[in-house]
Amino acid sequence: AKETGRNNYKFFTKAMNEEISFKLSLENDLRKALVKEEFEVYYQPQLDLNTNRIVSVEALLRWHHPEKGFVSPADFIPLAEETGLIVPIGEWVLRESCKQTKKWRNQGHDISISVNLSNQQLISNHIVELVKEILIENQLDPQYLTLEITESLAITNLTDTLNKLKKLQEIGVTIALDDFGTGYSSLSYLSTLPINFVKIDKSFINDICDKTKREIVKSVSRIASSRGLTVVAEGVEEEEQIYIIQSLGIGMIQGYYLSKPVPSKEMEKKFLEKLSF
Ligand code: C2E
Ligand code: CA
Ligand code: CA
Ligand code: CA
Repeated sequence: AKETGRNNYKFFTKAMNEEISFKLSLENDLRKALVKEEFEVYYQPQLDLNTNRIVSVEALLRWHHPEKGFVSPADFIPLAEETGLIVPIGEWVLRESCKQTKKWRNQGHDISISVNLSNQQLISNHIVELVKEILIENQLDPQYLTLEITESLAITNLTDTLNKLKKLQEIGVTIALDDFGTGYSSLSYLSTLPINFVKIDKSFINDICDKTKREIVKSVSRIASSRGLTVVAEGVEEEEQIYIIQSLGIGMIQGYYLSKPVPSKEMEKKFLEKLSF
């Protein structure tokens, strides 16, 4: 038994060392990725169920690693957050996607952009100024920008966070609460946080045919509507889900049913196809 124990220990240290060095090398690569222009923004449409129109697109970051190929955001975003690299990377995403949106608007597509804002970006002192600067730089009206924040924000630096969010709303930017229903979510956030949209997490939409999940979504939708919030259903994959979603008073959908996130050129084709359901 002792023998196995020792072997296990050896095995674990080896595995741990490998994991650490893998992370370190990924971190090194991540540091250089901006300069080496390895990032690309993909876009995923959001459909307004009332007008049956694509009103908005979410910017989702992609990393084309020179050797590893495509690295999933699920792997590198947490690393970028741990290392603080998310601040310059997030700034690049914001700049890039606002520039693209202005271009689309100039081409006659009446479209808004939704950008994920990491907790660390919101904590940084100059975030409000930065957003203003990027909007001016691209001559994009603030009403066409939505910033998606997550519930974890509500826990740290609450007063400071609330002030910044209010300032962003004052300049005309829309604030969306992302992944609602996961983590430490609380229905009370819907009345305490300065937000305009609430995005119901895909895990709820996935099980929307289940009565209990549907009841939860229904309550969220009702509270949100009473506060004047727009509800967005994330991760819509099947047509049947849409009928239920609509019956629950949800105004917008996003998900593979409409389209996976795609490069800007492909997104343009989708605008022209006037994607609808
Ligand atoms: P998120 O903000 O919740 O984005 C939605 C994720 O769900 C995206 O994954 C999208 O591709 C995926 N998705 C959309 N529709 C469906 C569907 O119908 N079914 C399923 N199963 N999935 C769907 P993605 O692009 O891999 O991004 C993962 C996460 O990485 C994002 O989750 C977000 O938290 C983070 N992320 C991505 N880009 C950025 C960024 O620029 N900044 C920050 N801070 N985070 C980002
Ligand atoms: Ca999001
Ligand atoms: Ca989400
Ligand atoms: Ca998320």
